[in-house]
Amino acid sequence: MVLKLYNTRTRKKEEFQPLDPKNVRMYVCGPTVYDNAHIGNARPVIVFDVLYRLLRHVYGAEHVKYVRNITDVDDKINARAAEQGVSIRDLTDRTLKQFQADAAALGCLPPDVEPRATDHIEEMKTMIETLVAKGCAYVAEDHVLFHVAAMPDYGQLARRSLDEMQAGARVEVAPYKRDPMDFVLWKPSKEGEPGWASPCGIGAPGRPGWHIECSAMAEKHLGKTFDIHGGGIDLVFPHHENEVAQSRCAHDTEIMANVWMHNGFLQVEGQKMSKSLGNFVTIGNLLRDWPGQVVRLNMLRTHYHQPMDWTVNALKESELILRRWRSEGVSYEDWLNAEDGFGDPIGMPDGDGYGGGTADQDFFPALLDDLNTPLAIAMIHQMESENRLHALHVLGLAEEFSDPRRKKVDAATVEQSIALRLAARKAKNWAEADRIRDKLVAMGIALMDAKNPQTGEIETTWEIAR
Ligand code: AMP
Ligand code: ZN
Repeated sequence: MVLKLYNTRTRKKEEFQPLDPKNVRMYVCGPTVYDNAHIGNARPVIVFDVLYRLLRHVYGAEHVKYVRNITDVDDKINARAAEQGVSIRDLTDRTLKQFQADAAALGCLPPDVEPRATDHIEEMKTMIETLVAKGCAYVAEDHVLFHVAAMPDYGQLARRSLDEMQAGARVEVAPYKRDPMDFVLWKPSKEGEPGWASPCGIGAPGRPGWHIECSAMAEKHLGKTFDIHGGGIDLVFPHHENEVAQSRCAHDTEIMANVWMHNGFLQVEGQKMSKSLGNFVTIGNLLRDWPGQVVRLNMLRTHYHQPMDWTVNALKESELILRRWRSEGVSYEDWLNAEDGFGDPIGMPDGDGYGGGTADQDFFPALLDDLNTPLAIAMIHQMESENRLHALHVLGLAEEFSDPRRKKVDAATVEQSIALRLAARKAKNWAEADRIRDKLVAMGIALMDAKNPQTGEIETTWEIAR
């Protein structure tokens, strides 16, 4: 069984080999908690949850550690708290709670650790002092800056030279910087902003830069080097490049993380999400109209590496797919409780590659091939219902979920539709019968057809689908 992952660091799809198979470690950059998360933010949350589940499956749940941080100190947070007239802690607590509720509603397991930046200020200060002592960073006008020239292969992850970076980036040119690309590790706090006693003998209180947060929290919870570091593609430069620079210089290591993974960007109905277009889709709003598992399935129908267009049409298709799967399936509890009635679940393959097998045999190889969720989902379509449930469980799609629209189901309307469908079937108008069935499925209704042994007639019962 071989897991292959596309590694941004090497620009290659490679066989994944954990540093220690008994302790597989993954860090993913989490949200800055100043506003409710949008559907773009949900992409890394869902994608890396699938990877987390897969790693747990392959290495054993107790051998995988997943850390996703919370950035709760940031200029945007300060500005938003001032705007709303609330304390920073109130704003970040409330936003964090909402984020965790959103992630749970999208079927995501909580990470093993969700460290908050403000709980790791001491670790950041220690790291900053180490960097200064090593000559990789310097103090200037109450700031501490990382000196990029101290690291000859700075730009290696993003594959850009210093010259290109200077030409391309809108870097803040400050008179106290030795080099325009030097970036902030620590900066002074203005009046009314959160501040802590500064490192490196700086008298004025200050606060950390964004990049040092992740380096310090990753070291604290995963060690000086670890297996996988993830986030959205927008984070490669400068955030991840700077994390690498800080951690490698502080720890004298060749790598920070072995594998760097980045999800592609998501846009909505063909457009970039932006305040001015008014097309921000928050997870909370989406969950008012769609079950969380429909949102999750819809996300996984595009390969994580590809750019994605989020559309209502695709959501409708995802809902139909999920309803079909569920109305044909058995409950997960039934599956677990069955002694051997459901046979062998999807076999974990020994070999490499896929193709030529059955849908059941090809499901895992698809996932193991750089998380090819669209292909894995295509396999689910062809599976026996018992195995399908196991596959859905692996993707986090098997659990019970609440449907915000369920209350709207009117039994009389459902029964009328069922009668019309049976009449259409009798008249051999299969297209019409299927149309009615699809309509009911989209409403969250599962239909069960059975022959009445006495009359020989098909009778249909219904229930609200899980
Ligand atoms: P932020 O709170 O902006 O730091 O973003 C949190 C995570 O969401 C990061 O991993 C970002 O790369 C990711 N992200 C933000 N916007 C999008 C988007 N439109 N599509 C995909 N990922 C995104
Ligand atoms: Zn980060």
